[in-house]
Amino acid sequence: MILLDGKKTANDIKNEIAVKVANLVAGGGKKPHLAAILVGGDGASETYVNAKVKACNKVGFDSTLVRFNANVSEKKLLAEVKKINDNSDIDGLIVQLPLPAHIDELKVTEAINPIKDVDGFHPANIGRMVLNLPTYLPATPAGILELLDRYKIETSGKHCVVIGRSHIVGAPMSILMARNNNPGNCTVTLTHSRTKNLKEITKTADILIVALGKAEFVTADMVKDGVCIIDVGITRVKSDKTKSGWKLLGDVAFDEVSKKSSFITPVPGGVGPMTIAMLLKNTLVSTDKLLY
Ligand code: NAD
Repeated sequence: MILLDGKKTANDIKNEIAVKVANLVAGGGKKPHLAAILVGGDGASETYVNAKVKACNKVGFDSTLVRFNANVSEKKLLAEVKKINDNSDIDGLIVQLPLPAHIDELKVTEAINPIKDVDGFHPANIGRMVLNLPTYLPATPAGILELLDRYKIETSGKHCVVIGRSHIVGAPMSILMARNNNPGNCTVTLTHSRTKNLKEITKTADILIVALGKAEFVTADMVKDGVCIIDVGITRVKSDKTKSGWKLLGDVAFDEVSKKSSFITPVPGGVGPMTIAMLLKNTLVSTDKLLY
């Protein structure tokens, strides 16, 4: 079994980006600049945005964090998005999701200039992804592709089963694994909460990508020997063995499933760190306005 070390791979990518930024600046170019909008003080969103801003600074990007109270009007938020769209110094813009219930997330996502949409959530960029055209790929699926690529895992002709069909992970992942690309060229089965006989399907997977948000859902009896496991899930559970009183679990029962796996991502330290690295990669690309 080979552990797919997302933490190390993400650090390698960040170091590569830092070198590229230093070269860009040495050549008289401008530093990539990412703007992030955070609405409200939700703990998880605050943590994620802070981690993204910190990562930007670490690789030499400029960053701007715009904060609004949870009761900000949709109109005011849309005006800020427009202001950032029109600011030629800012290359990439992300609006941290979820947004409060009174704000239409799709409307805000659609207001972002697709050329600055480094989260890859704009319908225009999702369309370009489906058509296999140059675009910003959503960060978590892009991070999984990068791991498969860097560990030289053969995907062509393999049966890839994806559990979960969210817009940010499962659905784009299924499209990317089926594209005529490397990694890609898989025969893909996308499963979800209405899927019947899930175990019969997962047992035929060469590559199993799990993103449903239920701790240790995938057990050893659900996979075949030699499977490659990508565990996207993150669930915080109480623990009396850690200082904080919490620990993170993936969607896969790691101890038993790893024994049957050829490759497996740990949680934490697998897919999670790759997500931020891919956001940085997208932001670096966004400085090149010739992406499409
Ligand atoms: P979501 O919560 O939006 O959707 C869950 C999906 O799982 C749905 O499509 C649903 O149909 C499916 N599902 C639920 N129960 C099922 C069952 N019994 N059998 C089969 N399918 C079932 O999902 P999400 O936003 O993609 O998040 C999934 C997990 O991944 C969460 O734990 C989340 O925290 C984590 N996540 C991690 C990262 C990262 O960077 N590592 C990024 C995004 C999400």
